[in-house]
Amino acid sequence: MITGYTGEKHNKNLIIEDLFKLEPAYKDYLWGGTTLKKKYDKNCRLNKVAESWELSAHPDGLCRIATGRFSGETFDNFINDVGIQALGKKYSDHQEFPLLIKFIDAQQPLSIQIHPDDIYAEKVEHGQGKTEMWYVVDCEENAFIYYGLKEKTSKKEIAERVKNNSITEILNKVYVHKGDAFFVQAGTIHAIGKGILICEIQQNSNSTYRLYDYDRRDKDGNTRELQLNKALDVVNVDKADNGCYHHNVRKHNGYNTQILAECDYFTTIKYDVTTTADIKVTDDSFVAITIVDGFGTVEDNTMAIKFKPGDTIFATAGNRQITVSGQCLLLISHM
Ligand SMILES: [Zn+2]
Repeated sequence: MITGYTGEKHNKNLIIEDLFKLEPAYKDYLWGGTTLKKKYDKNCRLNKVAESWELSAHPDGLCRIATGRFSGETFDNFINDVGIQALGKKYSDHQEFPLLIKFIDAQQPLSIQIHPDDIYAEKVEHGQGKTEMWYVVDCEENAFIYYGLKEKTSKKEIAERVKNNSITEILNKVYVHKGDAFFVQAGTIHAIGKGILICEIQQNSNSTYRLYDYDRRDKDGNTRELQLNKALDVVNVDKADNGCYHHNVRKHNGYNTQILAECDYFTTIKYDVTTTADIKVTDDSFVAITIVDGFGTVEDNTMAIKFKPGDTIFATAGNRQITVSGQCLLLISHM
């Protein structure tokens, strides 16, 4: 529902075009580390930070608006107040906010897991499915992920191998490098390995079915719950490729671009900026700008925002040009 503004701050006829920084929500899952606090100077009281949910309208971890006239509002409140004009024409097809953008610091490996697609998620979880992409911001030497199956495998064998602790033997082990991008379609068995810092762009969903957790214990000696039956319901049993796609680099004056992912849910483009770059925003979709590295300024015709590594900036929908100045590496995501 779209509600207008009342009062002085909330003027009904306000111009929707806006640009602001976001303040993430943090998660301290047991496999997290301290990189997000050290590298990105994240202001968080948790000792270890596994994930920062940079752009999130998900009730499990709402981000907040950090600058401008909506400063302090949770992102879902902002959407309820401002409505679909701010998110773009493509949003009218969606019932919920479409995207979730996170940084993930895997100091220890994540569980081996699967996400449902839209059809299964709607039926069983009453929410969206989860197709995601990963950009490897940094990694240790010899860091790897598990991505899909080495060979087509029956569900019966997958279930047996979970029970006898040999599931990793049939998974595709892929060594990763800084700058790699992976596309993880819903249904693909996967796990982010140890020593990898990732920026994840995904559907707005927290539906994860844990298939195997290396028999790990938390500080109280408990194992985490597995969702084997649901995982087997949704698993893609076909042989996988390595998931890492190298897209063409387009050269522009002052910056290069590279499309990292283009799917029904989101498009993500890497901007490697040496001096200045132009980013076109349309009335089709908002644009999220995630700063992977470097310092600079983002500006439209009304305001300028300085950024540092790890920041995320949100531009509402509306036909205009945004200019980025500085030497920096950005991920631009939109519907
Ligand atoms: Zn995942």
